[in-house]
Amino acid sequence: MRCVLLSDTLDLRALFGTALAAVADRVEIVDHPAEHPEEVRLALGWNPPPDAFARYPNLAAICSIGAGADNLLACPGLPEPVAVVRVVDPDQARAMSHFVLWHLIGHQRRFSAYAENQRAGRWQRLGQRAAAEVPVGILGYGRIGRQVAADIAALGFPVAAWSRSPGADEPGIARHHGTDGLAALLARTEVLVNLLPLTPETTGLLDAARLRRLRPGAFLIHVGRGPQLVEADLLATLDDGTLAGAALDVFAREPLDAGHPFWRHPRIAVTPHEACDASDAAVAAAVAATAEALAAGRPIPHAVDRMRGY
Ligand code: NDP
Repeated sequence: MRCVLLSDTLDLRALFGTALAAVADRVEIVDHPAEHPEEVRLALGWNPPPDAFARYPNLAAICSIGAGADNLLACPGLPEPVAVVRVVDPDQARAMSHFVLWHLIGHQRRFSAYAENQRAGRWQRLGQRAAAEVPVGILGYGRIGRQVAADIAALGFPVAAWSRSPGADEPGIARHHGTDGLAALLARTEVLVNLLPLTPETTGLLDAARLRRLRPGAFLIHVGRGPQLVEADLLATLDDGTLAGAALDVFAREPLDAGHPFWRHPRIAVTPHEACDASDAAVAAAVAATAEALAAGRPIPHAVDRMRGY
């Protein structure tokens, strides 16, 4: 099946060409604008060009290059019947877990205070807190949130997780859902991990009112999507002492502007949206699985629910 590469911002052939060559028995990769556009039923995309969808009248599915599909769902010209497919990669979930653990343990064991003391040449024992004394709240209990929650719980941190739909508590993990569930989770949480997909409901969710419900001296690990955090409110809650610090991997505008106050804030750690990538092989496997499903007329694995937005 022919698969057209659609991106205004990335060279998808350079990024994924080698991995896609491994699935060439099922997928023929073509560049945009492709000849015989009516034969194209599949695309791999990230920031697709605005004219792309009008050109391919028989497009049936477009695959994302990552776990989130918000970038594709936001495309104005995306026709209603086109399936949007995201990548589900267990290795990516594990990599996210490592990233979150780094920041969680850094907060619990006060690594940044020791780094500051070292710069000042100061020998000072700051004391230790057990993992059991640091409750963690995870927003989003999906493919990645579950892996992160399980790994954190296994290290002895009390974990609560929030999702849209209800679910029974699991060993070491309290489940919450809905508005009341969010309030309950925030009230018991010292380290808040945001792993929600970007939807109209999650946009602006992390505002001052909600951050102020956290335990005093809380720490935010923000790895979902930038627009979920009201950036000015983060600065305000750091300044008023509600938050002890924050690790930010995603931003309202990426790349982060050179003059943005986050860069130089002493209690903010910035990383460039690189908490964890889906592997090239996982992206190619998703394209191949979508091609196979389309050819066989079967449901497409990991197609997002376009009404729900994830
Ligand atoms: P999933 O779709 O598997 O899980 C999403 C979770 O969020 C589900 O538990 C879902 O609830 C919950 N959720 C969605 N909307 C709401 C809502 N309104 N209220 C409460 N809960 C809600 O996604 P993944 O775990 O695979 O990925 C999560 C996100 O992580 C991605 O969408 C992406 O934004 C981000 N990400 C960031 C990366 C980075 O490098 N920074 C890398 C990879 C992902 P329910 O279970 O009830 O459906």
